[in-house]
Amino acid sequence: MLAMNYRGPYRVRVAHKPHPEILHPQDAIVRVTRSCICGSDLHLYHGLVPDTRVGSTFGHEFVGIVEEIGPDVTKIKVGDQVLVPFNIACGECVFCKQEMYGNCHESNAQATAVGAIYGYSHTAGGYDGGQAEYARVPYANVGPTVIPADMDPDDAVLLTDVVPTGYQAAEMAGIQTGDTVVVFGAGPVGIMAAKCAWLFGAGRVIVIDHVEYRLEFVRNYAQCEAYNFESLEDPVLFIKKTTAWLGADVCIDAVGADAAGSAMQTLTGRKLLLQAGSATALHWAINAVKKGGIVSVVGVYGPTDNLVPIGNMMNKGLTMRGNQTSVKRLLPRLIEHVQAGRLDPKGIITHRVPLEEVADAYHIFSAKLDNCIKTVLIPSP
Ligand code: NAD
Ligand code: ZN
Repeated sequence: MLAMNYRGPYRVRVAHKPHPEILHPQDAIVRVTRSCICGSDLHLYHGLVPDTRVGSTFGHEFVGIVEEIGPDVTKIKVGDQVLVPFNIACGECVFCKQEMYGNCHESNAQATAVGAIYGYSHTAGGYDGGQAEYARVPYANVGPTVIPADMDPDDAVLLTDVVPTGYQAAEMAGIQTGDTVVVFGAGPVGIMAAKCAWLFGAGRVIVIDHVEYRLEFVRNYAQCEAYNFESLEDPVLFIKKTTAWLGADVCIDAVGADAAGSAMQTLTGRKLLLQAGSATALHWAINAVKKGGIVSVVGVYGPTDNLVPIGNMMNKGLTMRGNQTSVKRLLPRLIEHVQAGRLDPKGIITHRVPLEEVADAYHIFSAKLDNCIKTVLIPSP
């Protein structure tokens, strides 16, 4: 079969790989019909994730048709059209029992902080992902969910990660009615977080990024304010000024580790150019939130990103929450929001690309070219 193939930082291509096989009685094989590229894939693409092996296939956001099931699979059948949450979760461990599917204790033999994730390096379990014609889906009674008959698969594919992650970002932020919510990052996740903030009763939603077309997009899509941090004297100062010097009620970090690094200005106006892997957005979030406020972190960082102003976090009495999204926990209510028209996931898809063109697709998404927000890779039927 054809599959995306990692060759090293900034180098991916398609290659032939063996068709995946059932290796365990609870496995299923899914013929992929759509697979997205995620901002999380960019951390792999940029070479920031430890133990990302040459030859591996990325892709944790996919939908498809069940082609084969192992003898112990009872919840889905051959021919079902399923969406596959990005978390690989056993459904039985102490964390899965608490619906913390992103923290499954069984699926990731490396026993790192996270459970396994499709196509996300050997640090996250070493499973191949869905940017391929076929994918092996372990614990197939747990993750894969039959797509409702009235749901567009383009909406469904975004329910595998981006929509639940934006929603969980807003949920973890503990938004109260009328709150001012600041979202750092206007990528797919930040856009969804901004959109979902309204569902939780936000009174004002402000998004910060520096890619103009994304700011324009989020203004329209999420009906919010959006500002370019490069044209602000200081994003933290700006947020303070616009909130009567109190700070935002909650801040959401939808950026994570940034390979490019970015210019950071401090409250004193001093400019610092941070190294790759710096935590600029998180720094801003901690400083821009009000005393006693909540910082919700969904941006993905390496274990040792530093320069986090932990002293301000303590002195301001902040609550910080973060996690990999527990997709399965959120699916029932998100399917309802989509069916009721309150969320329009496919509205963020800007690019549909044959799987064969994966190299160009990664480059365009990574470099923020061609007004790209979200790319869907389509394997040949
Ligand atoms: P993306 O790369 O498309 O978007 C990130 C955006 O942040 C870009 O538009 C970039 O210009 C902007 N940015 C960079 N530095 C900034 C700064 N200092 N302040 C404000 N904006 C800045 O990625 P995405 O798909 O939207 O994902 C965003 C983050 O969420 C990534 O770190 C990704 O790994 C993470 N993520 C987490 C989960 C989870 O389960 N927690 C799930 C999906 C994605
Ligand atoms: Zn993703």
